[in-house]
Amino acid sequence: MNNNLLLWQNFPSHIHIGNRELQVGYFGDQTGDNYGLYISDRDEVWFDASMTPGRAVQVVIHELLHALWEEGGFDETDKEEEHVVGVLSCQLSALLKHNPLLSEWLFTHSKKGDSYVTETASNQGC
Ligand SMILES: [Zn+2]
Repeated sequence: MNNNLLLWQNFPSHIHIGNRELQVGYFGDQTGDNYGLYISDRDEVWFDASMTPGRAVQVVIHELLHALWEEGGFDETDKEEEHVVGVLSCQLSALLKHNPLLSEWLFTHSKKGDSYVTETASNQGC
């Protein structure tokens, strides 16, 4: 990590996706156009530590959507994956940015341990 140490200070070191636990890693900006990387077979997700906060939100969502795409049973070789993930990550990050009350409501209620989420996650993808 470098100049964005504060941005990543409270970011989790592991992220749970279904029954998997992704380890979070960081790299510098040496990879050109890639700001994030999801490595499925190693259960890892990597982020460019030099990203701006606004880009970081979109990239985090983007990489986790790749993991969710796979977790949801979608074809990993689907040519549409990158397009779908790209569009949805931009839309979701904008949705959260422009609706802070919605973001707060979602955050608050997702922490309350509603059993619906965990009981249905394996067979409905929600
Ligand atoms: Zn991607």
